[in-house]
Amino acid sequence: MSVPFTPSLEFAKEADSTDELAYLKQAFHFPKHQGKDTIYFCGNSLGLQPKNVTQAVQTELTSWQELAVGGYFGGKNPWLYYQEYLKPSLARMMGCRETEVTVMNALTVNLHLLMLSFYRPGNGRFKIMMEAGAFPSDQYAVETLVKHFGYDPETAIIEIAPRDGEKTLRTADIIKSIEEQKDSLAMVLFGGINYYTGQFFDLKAITKAAHKVHAIAGFDLAHVAGNIPLQLHDWDIDFAAWCSYKYLNGGPGAIGGVFIHDRFAENMDTPRLGGWWGNDEKLRFKMEKGFIPKSNASGWNISTAQVFNTVCLQASLTLFDEAGIEKLRAKSILLTGYLEYLLHQLPDLRFEIITPTEPESRGAQLSLYFMDKGKEIHDKMIANGIIVDYREPGVIRVAPAPMYCSFEDVYQFYKILKGQF
Ligand SMILES: *Cc1c(COP(=O)(O)O)cnc(C)c1O
Repeated sequence: MSVPFTPSLEFAKEADSTDELAYLKQAFHFPKHQGKDTIYFCGNSLGLQPKNVTQAVQTELTSWQELAVGGYFGGKNPWLYYQEYLKPSLARMMGCRETEVTVMNALTVNLHLLMLSFYRPGNGRFKIMMEAGAFPSDQYAVETLVKHFGYDPETAIIEIAPRDGEKTLRTADIIKSIEEQKDSLAMVLFGGINYYTGQFFDLKAITKAAHKVHAIAGFDLAHVAGNIPLQLHDWDIDFAAWCSYKYLNGGPGAIGGVFIHDRFAENMDTPRLGGWWGNDEKLRFKMEKGFIPKSNASGWNISTAQVFNTVCLQASLTLFDEAGIEKLRAKSILLTGYLEYLLHQLPDLRFEIITPTEPESRGAQLSLYFMDKGKEIHDKMIANGIIVDYREPGVIRVAPAPMYCSFEDVYQFYKILKGQF
C-alpha cells in the first residue's frame, strides 16, 4: 500500500487489496450484527475466536474419549508435554529462548508467583515502582504483596504519573525516578503498554535503569503480547507475564504466559514455589521427598497442564507463526497510522487522542478522550455494528488488530464518527 494516505473508501479498499495479510480475516469468527460480520476493534480486551480452534479442541476431546488416562502419553499431542508445544512460537514472538518461556495459570496469579520469587525486600530495599493508573488487578496484586511482607503500601509503592497537563509518561522522567530511589528500590513492575492510554513504554531503558540501582525489572505484557515484537532476553528483562486472551486470541481466561530470564531459571537458588509439574521430569512420578525444579521457566509450573485451556492458544499461535509477528507489526503501524490520519481529518476536534503519536511508543490501540459525547458515540458505533469499548471517563479505545482488521474497517469507523460532528 502507499503512504501518504487518502480519506476515501477507494483508498482503504486499495490498501486492503495490496495487504498480504488480508486473507487472515477469513480465519476468524466475527460476532454478527443484523446478519453481517461486525467490525471488531476490541482485540485489546478479548480477541476473536480463530476458526481452527474447533478442530483443535475436538482432537483433545477425542484423546480423552478414546484414551482417558492414556492421553498423557498417547494421542496426537501427549498431555504430559503440553506446555512444550507452545514454547517455539512464544519464544519467537517475545524474543527469548524456549527455556525462558512457559504457559500456566492466568496473568494475575502469575504476577503473584513471579513477584514472590523476585521481590526479596530487606536492608532498607523494599519499594516497588509502577506507572500511575496501572491496570487495577496489578495495583491490587502489588498492594497485597507488600502488605504480605508487612509493609505499608503508602510508603512501599511508588507510582509515577505524567507531568501536569500531560497524558503519558516521559522515559527520562521514569529513569530519573528510578535513580532517585537508589538503594530503597527493590523492583520496578510496569505495564508494557498502559491499558488506558495505550502508551508503550521503553522496556529496555527502564530495565537498564532498574539494574543500575540493583533493582529487579518485571513487566506485565498483557497488552503487548501478540501486538508488538519484543526482545525480552537481549533487553535483559528479569521476568514478565501476560494473558493470552487479548491480542493472542487464546479465548476467555486462556492460559497465561511467563518469561523468566535464563540467569534466574538456571540458578537453583532462585526461590520458586514448587509443585510436581515444575519438578525435574525424570523424578516427577517417583513421588519422593525434596523439590528439584526444572532449570528453566517450566520450573515455575505447579499443576498439571491445563489442556483445554491451552489448546485454543496453541491453535491461535499457528496463525501468528504463519503471518510472522514482524509482518503483523508492520501492517499494524500502517493501520493505526491510517486511523490516526483519518481522525485528524475531522473538522471539529471535540476529542483528543491521548495515545502517543510515535509508532514506537504505541501498539494497535488509540485511546480517544471525548470532552462530552463519549458514551453517545460509543453507543452509535455499537448500533452500526462496530465494536469498540468505552472506559470512564470519556475514553473510547479503538484497537485495529492487524490479524483481522482491515483498512476498510478503519474507514467505516471514521465515516460514522464524521457523521457525529
Ligand atoms: C487484562 C489485564 C489483566 C487481567 O488479568 P487476569 O489475571 O488475566 O484477569 C491484568 N493486568 C493487565 C495490565 C491487563 O491488561
